[in-house]
Amino acid sequence: MKIASRLGIFGGTFSPVHKGHVGAAEAFIKSGMIDKLLIIPTLIPPHKQQASVLAEHRFNMLTLAFEKLCSQEAVEISDYELQKGSISYTVETLKHFRPFCDHIKLLCGSDMFLTIDTWYHANELLHLCEIVYEQRNGSMEESEQLAQKNKQLWRQYGVKSTPLPIEQIINISSSEIREKLIHGEDVSAYIDAKVLNYIKGNHLYA
Ligand code: ATP
Repeated sequence: MKIASRLGIFGGTFSPVHKGHVGAAEAFIKSGMIDKLLIIPTLIPPHKQQASVLAEHRFNMLTLAFEKLCSQEAVEISDYELQKGSISYTVETLKHFRPFCDHIKLLCGSDMFLTIDTWYHANELLHLCEIVYEQRNGSMEESEQLAQKNKQLWRQYGVKSTPLPIEQIINISSSEIREKLIHGEDVSAYIDAKVLNYIKGNHLYA
């Protein structure tokens, strides 16, 4: 059974999910490039240490942050990589979802896009989907690097990648938020109120 014709995938650790993630996902949906967005928290990211809180909490925080879009069926939080229980290589996830749609667009922030050709089985990955990339800090330097990478991927792999315009760039990362929480700083500007209540209620990142 098909999930959607044009399926968007947005993967990450999301520890915790923040307004930068939500803004990027919303912009992707608004762009009209996809019919449905799957948000896929990763179990063990190959390039990072194991996430600092239980997968179950990261999944629950995503559900809270995307409650409205999930109820409108624009977004679904997928536990595919969490259930799989092994290292989450994106190429494997793409192969899993490919039969359930006509076309996959993979959303990547700039840090991910700039290193995508070093990922596991990059050539195959790049031919299983179209990469849609977005800026994280909005600097001139970042936008030049992204444009260069776009050209390089076209020359080297013959694949087209698409920039996603973001109306309001929120220059924050989960690691900065974790640091602020450890030091008892206010993070309400960067996190949905329901997610923040969840973090406090479960004493996460304390
Ligand atoms: P960490 O600080 O722990 O590395 P992170 O904030 O980079 O985490 P991830 O879960 O690794 O978050 O990111 C998932 C995806 O969201 C990646 O494609 C990443 O580039 C993108 N992303 C992260 N933060 C932002 C942001 N502020 N704006 C837009 N995209 C973002």
